[in-house]
Amino acid sequence: MFLTITTTGTPERPATDLGFLLHKHPDNAQAFSTSYGTAHVLYPEADAERCTAALLLEVDAVALVRRGKGKGRGGAPDAALAQYVNDRPYAASSLLAVALSGVFSSAMRGVCAAKPELPSQPRPLRVEVPALPARGGPGLVQRLFEPLGWTVTAEPVALDAEFPDWGDSRYVRLALESETLTLAEALRHLYVLLPVLDDAKHYWVSPDEVDKLLRAGEGWLPGHPEQKLITSRYLSRRWSLTRQAMERLELVRLAETDDTAVEEIDNAVEAEAEAEERPTPLAVRRRDAIVAALGESGAARVLDLGCGQGQLVQALLKDPRFTEIVGVDVSMRALTIASRRLKLDRMGERQASRVKLFQGSLAYTDTRLKGYDAAVLSEVVEHLDLPRLPALEYAVFGSARPRTVLVTTPNVEHNVRWETLPAGHVRHGDHRFEWTREEFRTWAGAVAERHGYDVEFTPVGPEDPEVGPPTQMAVFTLRTTDEKHPHEKRTNEKRTNEKEAKAA
Ligand code: SAH
Repeated sequence: MFLTITTTGTPERPATDLGFLLHKHPDNAQAFSTSYGTAHVLYPEADAERCTAALLLEVDAVALVRRGKGKGRGGAPDAALAQYVNDRPYAASSLLAVALSGVFSSAMRGVCAAKPELPSQPRPLRVEVPALPARGGPGLVQRLFEPLGWTVTAEPVALDAEFPDWGDSRYVRLALESETLTLAEALRHLYVLLPVLDDAKHYWVSPDEVDKLLRAGEGWLPGHPEQKLITSRYLSRRWSLTRQAMERLELVRLAETDDTAVEEIDNAVEAEAEAEERPTPLAVRRRDAIVAALGESGAARVLDLGCGQGQLVQALLKDPRFTEIVGVDVSMRALTIASRRLKLDRMGERQASRVKLFQGSLAYTDTRLKGYDAAVLSEVVEHLDLPRLPALEYAVFGSARPRTVLVTTPNVEHNVRWETLPAGHVRHGDHRFEWTREEFRTWAGAVAERHGYDVEFTPVGPEDPEVGPPTQMAVFTLRTTDEKHPHEKRTNEKRTNEKEAKAA
């Protein structure tokens, strides 16, 4: 494993400042032992005009395997020999990243006691990695580094130089050049992106990796066009961690952008979706279907249960048929984003009186949920563990008991039509289950029966003749003549009587 960093300089700003920045003197070759082997730092060239630092990692493959053994997935038993005979010693980018952060930790944080003014100054930098494993090839390397201000050269390395017919290996020869970045920024880019390109961590990814990612990604990851891919790969595709990280990145982005900008981004996203003449995004279709069903039900006072980041609440606010809209979610983080999206703090009094957000769990009955015309559970039930579903059922249909309840959930049969979804996977890491049409109907039918509702089903999104629509929606309507619920019957009778009185 080998990486070099080169800078050029002038007599006033000598290139050898690199030694101060890295806290490693150019005249010495130094060795640092790490848990996986030895990291060497040496300077093949060092004068005022040009200075190159090389980081060479000598990996102890046996130590790597032994260490991995006791540690969760890191020690997953491969074929015995493959553990020893693999490319890790030569190309494990995650090892290189760990070495970078270990050997150059102050440089990465932008600290230089000897010359405190240096770290914040951008300088000409050239980084070379002769053999970088890159899943996604040179194209992805470009997409990752270019938005950060690097000029990228990524050449595929032939599998065997003597046999060009064999094609390319999964390695690229990488050179990055920039005049505008500081060394700390450069190191933080490498620390995150080398393992992302490798896409195979040598250790088990634990939850504190989210913090490490956000720290190293500060200032450049929020808003990076490949933010999602970077986050997901960095966290070894552990969906719950990825989601956590994405939420936190979203908060950072929101904190950095002012509210008009948030609106502009929202508009831009919708406009883009339209311009591309792609089919309307499923989330938009779902929202439209919900608004239409609510309209048909005649509801004016509406609960959005598990409102998430408030997109539906926002749509309902734009429609004067809805006089009171309440968003409820268990996640404070989601509610914070929702409240920023809605600009609750700056809303006119009249608008503000129509909307409320509060934190609550649907696994418990809650008197605040009583007395509304309709409740929406949009893509929420599948986020609860199955054994907790009866609690939600009781809280909504038994206790809150609005006249109309809309429930949407993925139709798992449709997943085979999702090109990017690996077979047998759910659509979202936090989905505890996904139902077939039959399963959803069975559940909804039983719920309706138990609580005195009628239920009808509506497809959402393009309906496939074989596997059905991507989303399924159930519309529950409280039975007006249900003997089991005399209280409801009375109120409904009262309503009818009032109507008749009016008509008379
Ligand atoms: N309704 C939104 C968000 C769906 S994501 C939409 O259609 O886009 C599911 C949401 O349900 C998340 O915001 C999650 O925080 C919330 N949630 C999950 N379990 C919950 C519970 N027990 N009580 C309240 N909200 C819950």
